This record gives sequence, structure tokens and C-alpha cells, in this order.
Amino acid sequence: MIQRESTRQGVIVASLWRKIRKTGRVAEPAPDKPVPDNTTVQSTAAELGGSVQIRHVDAGSCNGCEVEIASAFGPVYDAERYGARLVASPRHADALVVTGPVTRNMEVALRRTFEAVPQPRLVVALGDCARNCGVFAGAYGVAGSVADVVPVDVEVAGCPPRPEAIVAALRGLTGR
Ligand code: SF4
Repeated sequence: MIQRESTRQGVIVASLWRKIRKTGRVAEPAPDKPVPDNTTVQSTAAELGGSVQIRHVDAGSCNGCEVEIASAFGPVYDAERYGARLVASPRHADALVVTGPVTRNMEVALRRTFEAVPQPRLVVALGDCARNCGVFAGAYGVAGSVADVVPVDVEVAGCPPRPEAIVAALRGLTGR
């Protein structure tokens, strides 16, 4: 019985390897390597040594930016190949990626999350809402842009930004 089960698993593994060989690499070619013009980003990227652990904070997004972040970390754009990795706690992070305008309910939470990230740390304002409140500018529940609450080092434009732009910005953080 045990032998039959291990034979079946062997067949499954062999068929999986055949499929992987046949499919090949699906990731997009690397986008241009950006050269950050911000000296804080350059020096912090050098200190981080080629990898960056990222805590994502949704400060009030419509979730459009989250869809593109998921795509940037999926198998096609594969941001992890440049040393960028999403983590579950700000205490494990080197950088915050913040989406959405900062709503009044998230203002204190964002500030506390920023303070929980060990130094040196970077903040990316991802998407037009994070940069300047975008379509939500002037809304009664919006406290301001990300830069109104915490210092921002890198901005990624777009509503939402394309995965290529997200990957390019993250490459700027890792220096890879
Ligand atoms: S930038 Fe656009 S996609 Fe992103 S949170 Fe704002 S409205 Fe949504």
C-alpha cells in the first residue's frame, strides 16, 4: 500500500517536472534598472545590501493599487527576483509601501507603523492617491497624502501604476 502511494507520488512529481521544463520561464524581461536620484534612497539601498523587506500599508486605497502589487509579485513580473519581499510585520521591514490617500481612520496607524520599522527605512508612496490624494482629494474622510503623515522617499505615479513601474521602483530600493 505504502509502495503504491510512493509510486503514484513519483509519477506526479515526474509529470510536474515535465510541465515545468515545457513551460519554461514565464517572467517578463527585466525592466530598465532605474537610477534613484534621491541620495537617501541610494545610501539606504547600499546599506540594505541588495534586498529589501517590504511592509505594505493600505491607508485608504480603492484596492486597484493592491491588484497591481499582487501582479508585480506574481510569476510574470516576479519582483522577488530583485530581492524585494513582502513581510507581515513592520518590525521585519526595511521599507513601507503605502497605497491610497491616508484616511482619518488610518492616519495614526500609518504613523505608528512607520515608527515600528527599524532604521534605516524607506517609504514608497505608490499610486496617485498616495502621492496627492488623487480622485479622493478633498473628500471628508481623507487626512491627506502619505507625505502629509510620514516622510516619503520614492513616489510611483499612476492610477493604478503598472506592475512594470512598481518593479522598477522596487529595483531602485534594492539597487539590483
Ligand atoms: S491610485 Fe487609483 S487605483 Fe490606486 S488607490 Fe487611488 S484610485 Fe485606486
